[in-house]
Amino acid sequence: MLIVMKSAASGEEIQAVIERVQSAGARSHLVRGEEVAVIGAIGDREHVARLGLEGSPGVDSVVPILKPYKLASSEVRQGERSVLEIGGRRVGGEHFALVAGPCTVESRDQTLATARIVKDAGAMFLRGGAYKPRTSPYAFQGLGEAGLRILAEAKAETGMPIVTELMDVRDLEPVLAVADVIQIGARNMQNYTLLTEVGRAGCPVMIKRGLSSTLEELLMAAEYVLKEGNENVLLCERGIRTFETAYRFTLDLTAVPVLKQLSHLPVIVDPSHAAGRRDLVEPLSLAPAAAGADGIIVEVHPAPDEAICDGPQALHCDDFARFAAKLDQVAAIAGKRIGAAA
Ligand code: PEP
Ligand code: MN
Repeated sequence: MLIVMKSAASGEEIQAVIERVQSAGARSHLVRGEEVAVIGAIGDREHVARLGLEGSPGVDSVVPILKPYKLASSEVRQGERSVLEIGGRRVGGEHFALVAGPCTVESRDQTLATARIVKDAGAMFLRGGAYKPRTSPYAFQGLGEAGLRILAEAKAETGMPIVTELMDVRDLEPVLAVADVIQIGARNMQNYTLLTEVGRAGCPVMIKRGLSSTLEELLMAAEYVLKEGNENVLLCERGIRTFETAYRFTLDLTAVPVLKQLSHLPVIVDPSHAAGRRDLVEPLSLAPAAAGADGIIVEVHPAPDEAICDGPQALHCDDFARFAAKLDQVAAIAGKRIGAAA
């Protein structure tokens, strides 16, 4: 249920509603919009309905949230979009996030060289996996904690916040020490214990859409994190499995405007994993930027031919500045700029 307060509602009236919601065993979630405060009451529907909050002091209306996801739904924000503040950067609204870096941290030199180049070209976050979800158990699985130390060094030198994947809750502590955004990979999108733990950790989270997941399933995954009181959630479209085999996955461009209708959360697009091919990365970045995506996460490597992982889809470092400048121009069409002033 959504309890919409009157614009003149006092702090005490808002607090009284929150207490009544909580005393019914439901969770309350206060959203202070520019005009009015809205309290989301999440829990047993009958309990909340029986509270009879209509007509209580300061209460304007009580409306059900019809979607199965509640805190992720656009209804809970009454149409206002979330703008997240992460490591001194803003994501959402007019702030287009450019996240770039290698698929995986291979070495100090490779990671630092990439970090310097993408930073100079305007990237706001550095990506890089220390724990890699590989299809084959015989493939390189990531440098683990040694990789995290390299990411920490890249962050210390460049000042760029880090986006890195967490696959196993047992690695939460070392990942938290370095990550500004924890990435939940496509294969773990429905790992509900992992989602709950990163929700509790409070660190910003980017959830990648599962290979064969619907948008509703993605939003339910986000709900697991939000339900723990962690509001810093980014959604990521990274391509889904279809009958088409000419490229790695099918980028679901329609997901961009539809997710933005269904949810207030920022929507990031990963063209690299969708395409699997370098030549497709640019068009698959420009199209979502024009369609209103809130950012792009892209793989970049100083020597893609020698990359341990995902080399064929990595942009060359040498080409990155040109790519970033073009992306910025297209994002501007949708009213956003890369990193637009905070
Ligand atoms: C990645 O970003 O490195 C990755 C493995 O992505 P996904 O989970 O989308 O396959
Ligand atoms: Mn990759």
